[in-house]
Amino acid sequence: MPPERLPLAGLRVVEFCQVASGPYCGMLLADLGAEVVKVEPPSGDAMRTWPPLSDGFSENFASLNRNKRSIALDLKSEGDVAIAKRLIDRSDILIENNRPGVMSRLGLGYTELSRARPELIYCSISAFGQTGPRSADAGFDVTVQAVSGMMSVTGESTDAPVKAGVPISDFASGLYGVCGVLALVNRVKSGGPGGHVDVPMLGVSLAIAALQTSEYFGTGKDPEPLGSRHPRNSPYQAYLAQDDYFVLAAGNDRLWRKVCDVIGRPELADDPAYGTTTDRSKNQVALTAELAPIFLAQKASHWIARFRGQGVPCEPINRYSDALAQPQVDSMGWVAPLELPNGHRTKTFGSPVSFTAPDGCQSEQVLRSPPALDADRTTILAELESTAEFPSALGASLPRFLRSMTELVTQAPSERELLPRCQTLLSQLIEDDGWLPEPFSRPNPERYCQNLLYCDPAERFCVVSFVWLPGQVTPIHDHRVWGVIGVLRGEERNERFRRLPGTGLEVVGVDTLVVGDLEVVSPRLGDIHRVSNVGSQTAVSIHVYGANIGTVERRIYDPDTGAVEPFISGYSNDTLPNFWGV
Ligand code: FE
Repeated sequence: MPPERLPLAGLRVVEFCQVASGPYCGMLLADLGAEVVKVEPPSGDAMRTWPPLSDGFSENFASLNRNKRSIALDLKSEGDVAIAKRLIDRSDILIENNRPGVMSRLGLGYTELSRARPELIYCSISAFGQTGPRSADAGFDVTVQAVSGMMSVTGESTDAPVKAGVPISDFASGLYGVCGVLALVNRVKSGGPGGHVDVPMLGVSLAIAALQTSEYFGTGKDPEPLGSRHPRNSPYQAYLAQDDYFVLAAGNDRLWRKVCDVIGRPELADDPAYGTTTDRSKNQVALTAELAPIFLAQKASHWIARFRGQGVPCEPINRYSDALAQPQVDSMGWVAPLELPNGHRTKTFGSPVSFTAPDGCQSEQVLRSPPALDADRTTILAELESTAEFPSALGASLPRFLRSMTELVTQAPSERELLPRCQTLLSQLIEDDGWLPEPFSRPNPERYCQNLLYCDPAERFCVVSFVWLPGQVTPIHDHRVWGVIGVLRGEERNERFRRLPGTGLEVVGVDTLVVGDLEVVSPRLGDIHRVSNVGSQTAVSIHVYGANIGTVERRIYDPDTGAVEPFISGYSNDTLPNFWGV
C-alpha cells in the first residue's frame, strides 16, 4: 500500500512521549498513515531498555513505536528546544505524556504554542488530568487501575487484589487520545481552530467502567469482584472440565436452551428458577452447582466443540502462544514480520482495524521499522531546512500533495504525461482542502495577489494561491512554463489569445472556471491569456507552476498592437510594479 493511500496520510505528528500510553497513541496515528516524529531524550525512551532485548533492541519498544521516526533532543538545551519548536511548527498534532507543567516549563506548553498556531492540535496524556487537586501527581497503569476502582472488581473476592493483566489504563488512554485528536482534526480541516486534548488516565479508566459506575449510581452499592462471572448473566463464566477450564457465554434465553440441550438436561430450560437471564444470574450459585459436575465429566475440547456446534459462544482460555497461532489471526493478517534496526527479524501485532473503501484506502501493519534512537536526525533536520517556509496550517492534504508532486517531477515525465497527473493530484488537494487559512486566501497587494504556498527546493515546481477581488483583471500575459489552476472559491474567466500575424491578438478560447474546476496552461497549448474575476465575491485559486515563478520570465502583450514587454513576475520580487491592479 503506498503511504499516501492511508487514511491519515499527510497529517504530521510530533510525539514527546515515553513508555506506553503516549507512544501507543502515536503509533495508532502512524499505523493509519500519519507521519510521526518521536522526540526522545538523549538517553532514549525509557522503554528502550525493557526486556526482552533482541540483539539489544527492546521488543516491547518495537511493539509501540513502529512506523515512526526518531530524533533525540536535549530539551534542557536552548538549541534543541529551538529545533523542537520548528518541528512543532511543521506539525498538525503534538502528543505528550509528561507530568502536567513540564512542557510549559520548556516553553512548549499548549498556551504558549497556540498563540501563534491556533490550529495546533495538542494532546496531553497524564495520570490525573491537566487541572484539579491531583494534576501534579504522577501515576502508572497499576496505580491508576487501583485508584480508579478497576482493581476492586477484578479477580476473585477471596484473593489478594489483582489488576487486569493487560495495562488497560495505559492503552485505553492512548485510544482516547487518538479519539480526541481526530475529533479536532475534523474541525481543523473545516477551517476551525485546534485545541488542547486533555486525556487523564484516571478519567479514562472510570469512563471504560461504564457498567460499574452505572451500577453504583443505580444501587448505591459497590460492585464486587466476580472472577470470570457476570453480575447480570449466567451461565457466563469459566467452568472447569475434566482437564482444563473453558469459558461459556450463554448471553440470552435462546442460547440457554441450547446449553440445556447440549448437556442433556432439556428440563432445566423450563425450570422457573432459570427462566430468564435475570433469574439465572440471581440464582447463579445454584445453577453453577447444577452445571459444574456435568462439565467435569468431559474434557474442555468436548464442550467447546459441542457448544460451538450449536452456536453458543464457548472458547478455551488461551495463552498467547495459542491465541496468536489461531487460523483466524493468520487469516486476518494481523501479525506482520518486523525487522529491527539491528537486522534482527521478529514479528509484531499490527493494526486490527482494516478498511474496505472504493479507492483502496487501507491501514498498514508495518510501513517502517521502529527507529533506533536518533536514527532520523539528519533527514528530519534537512526537512526543517527545506520546509522553513512551509505553512503546515494548510490542512492534511497539502503535505501529501507536495510529496506526490515532488515524486512526480523527480520521475521527469514528459509534459504530456505530467499535466494530467498533476491535474489529478490538484483535484484531490482542492477536494480535500477546499479552504485556505489566512493569509493565503486574503488579497495580497504586496505580492500582486499571489501568496506562495510552497516552492520545491530544486525549483522544479511551486504552488501559489491567487486571490482576485471582484472585477479584477490581469494584463494579457504568458508564462512560458506549464501551470495547472484549480479554483477554490468564486468564478474566474480565463481568456486565451493568439498572436495575429502583423498586429494585435485574437481570442481563441474563453473558459469560465468555478469552484472545483481545473485548467492547464502551457507553452505547448498556447498560453497567452488573461484572467478576470467575473463573480461578485473574492475568487481564490491554487496554481501549480513548473518552475519557481519568482524567477521565471513572463511577457505582457498589448491587445491592439501585439507589442510584447518582458517582465519578471512573482512573489519573490517586491520591487516590481503592481501589474495586477490591486
Ligand atoms: Fe497566468
